[in-house]
Parts: sequence; C-alpha cells; structure tokens
Amino acid sequence: MIKNKSSRKLVSTKVRGKIDFQFTLKQLKKNYPDAHCALDYKNPFELLIATILSAQCTDERVNMVTRVLFKSYPTPLSIAHLKIEALESLIRSTGFYRNKAKNIKQCCQVLVDKYEGHVPRTMEELLELPGVGRKTANVVLGNAYNISSGVVVDTHVTRLANRFGWVKGADAVKIELKLNELCPKSEWIMLSHYLISHGRAVCKARNPDCLNCFLQSSCPKLGV
Ligand code: SF4
Repeated sequence: MIKNKSSRKLVSTKVRGKIDFQFTLKQLKKNYPDAHCALDYKNPFELLIATILSAQCTDERVNMVTRVLFKSYPTPLSIAHLKIEALESLIRSTGFYRNKAKNIKQCCQVLVDKYEGHVPRTMEELLELPGVGRKTANVVLGNAYNISSGVVVDTHVTRLANRFGWVKGADAVKIELKLNELCPKSEWIMLSHYLISHGRAVCKARNPDCLNCFLQSSCPKLGV
C-alpha cells in the first residue's frame, strides 16, 4: 500500500520509541498558549527565594508563604537580619524548613555583601549562592531576566521527557543538556512551562490520561 504524504508525516512523529521533538513542541504550544511560571513574584529576588522554597513543595503553598514573608521582609537585608527561628516559623509549611531557612538566610547575606542586594545575572554567580542549583538558577535567569541559560528540569519535566523517550533516568543535569540539545534556544524558557502544564493537566505521575491526551497517537508512553 502506498502511503500518502500526510500519513507518512503522522507516522514519523514516533521514531524508534521516541516522540518527535518538534511535533511535540508544536502540540504543547497549541494546547497551552498561556503556560507560565506558577510562582508569584514581583522581582528577581522574590523569584529566587520562592524557587528555593519550592523544592518538594507545591507552588500554591509557596505562594501562600511568600505572600506573608515578603510583606514584612521584602529585601535581602531584611531577611539576612531576621532571626533564624523566626524565618523557620514563617516557611515551616513548605517542608524541609530548617535547611531552607539556613540557605535563604545565608543566600540573602551573600546578596547583601557581594551584590548590593541585587540578584546576579549569570549561572556561575547564581550557583555560588547557598541553596541554589542549576534548576533554581535557570528559573531565575529565564523568568526574571529573560536569559536562556538552559531548560528548567523539575519532577514533571523529568517524568515527561522519560515517557516521551527523549531521556532515560532521573539525572537532572543530563536531562537538561539533552533538552538543550533537542530544543531551539529561543524555546528553552517556555519548554519547561509547557511540559509542566501538560504534566499537571494530563500526563500526571499516577494515572496519566492517555486516552484523552492530544499526544496519544504518537507518544511511546514509556514506563506507563
Ligand atoms: S498522557 Fe499518556 S499519551 Fe499523553 S503524554 Fe502522557 S504518557 Fe504520553
């Protein structure tokens, strides 16, 4: 049977157990036109602290906590001067609060001492801040400064990239490098927002809704 052009195109979206990257990006864009960072922030400093707090915590919970925190302590100086017990109590509900409080206080102190209270704009400088890894640095650079430093890899991005066959395993740096390679740099910032939106709405950790998913016919559903 001779296949026409359109059927060849559809088949080509799943090659050797992988879903085609460009096809997927296009579909995600179409289905999540309003994808954006779910953390509330008014400036790079607020986004930095919110992202540190978001480890092992929902964005909704972080937004509740930062609303109260930044009302009384809106600057690195004010948090650096805050007693550690008071900071712990303010952020307790985000989990791992002792470690987070220690990192946030030290981070604010470095911002005050080294950067006059500003958040630096390079990956190298951000990675030197206590509590900041590549994920947090990419979130801040991409969303607060519109600098494409790399794709943000969180739990949703990890899960979907594995199910799509783009990566294998949970090593965040390896996943980021692979996604940076697959994705045009101009889309790095938005890619994680699209994947996170799809991970929350359809391709959930438990019971992904494959039957009603717009990627159903092309997705290899690895591990599902
Ligand atoms: S919900 Fe199913 S079909 Fe859709 S992206 Fe996830 S694993 Fe693939």
